Amino acid sequence: MALKDKVVLITGGNSGIGEAVTRRFIQEGAKVSIIGRSIETLKKMKAEFGEEILINQGDVSKYEDNEKAVQATVKQFGKLDVLVANAGVFDGFAKFADVTPDALSEAYDFLLNINVKGSFFGAKAALEELQKSNGNIIFTVSGASFYPDGGGVWYTASKHAQIGLMRQLAFELAPNIRVNAVAPGGTLTALSVIPPLRPFVKVVDNDTKASSIKKRNPLQLAQLPEDHVAAYVLLASDEARAITGEVISSDGGLSVRGL
Ligand code: NAD
Repeated sequence: MALKDKVVLITGGNSGIGEAVTRRFIQEGAKVSIIGRSIETLKKMKAEFGEEILINQGDVSKYEDNEKAVQATVKQFGKLDVLVANAGVFDGFAKFADVTPDALSEAYDFLLNINVKGSFFGAKAALEELQKSNGNIIFTVSGASFYPDGGGVWYTASKHAQIGLMRQLAFELAPNIRVNAVAPGGTLTALSVIPPLRPFVKVVDNDTKASSIKKRNPLQLAQLPEDHVAAYVLLASDEARAITGEVISSDGGLSVRGL
């Protein structure tokens, strides 16, 4: 049990990669608190995991929702050891040239408020408790944090920005708090395209998505959320006490191809 007695807050822990991380962290002995938007999926997780989990309905782009979740977590489980800032949304590969200036602006606010400001807010709200526990932060970034064509400009810019946030925080928060990231490659989840860009993108079915993900990475994997969880377990655990400011890529080898 690599995470025995750890208390972890995971944003977007009710679906996709965040849900897989939640499940595995509980198996590894952690108490997990999750923030999500959908009350149905939050309640499903509560029904399955009972006392091991705390659910918080909220919006990561609002500071007070992050703060409330941290307070509720500490009230329920007594401390906070790890923040996994994972909640995110997608731009559906919308093409910059196709999008009107109004939609560009609306999409910018919508997506960066969640992917970037939500990461800032999660880290800020958790900071005091992580200082007390000598804890750590893990951001879910992406292949789009390093390479083009992992999304459109909004998503790619947001995922690059998270790397800057992670590196600067690793520098500022040492020696008390470690700060790292996991960068999944294309993964079969329900990652949603934000409303302002829906008129500009093609909706693809799961088979098309799977074959396009396979073609992009040298290992030819249509990755599943479970493929990434070991990286989170390592970074969250005390085994990683010498690791900060790092990204573990879990992407089927995108860098090998040098996209
Ligand atoms: P997902 O849609 O299953 O999970 C995203 C979660 O974030 C959902 O639970 C969603 O409700 C939550 N969320 C979104 N906006 C929120 C908000 N404002 N407040 C609170 N919760 C919010 O998709 P996923 O693929 O599991 O995405 C998780 C993370 O992984 C994201 O940061 C995404 O950018 C990243 N990622 C995904 C892929 C991929 O191909 N699926 C690849 C690389 C990185």
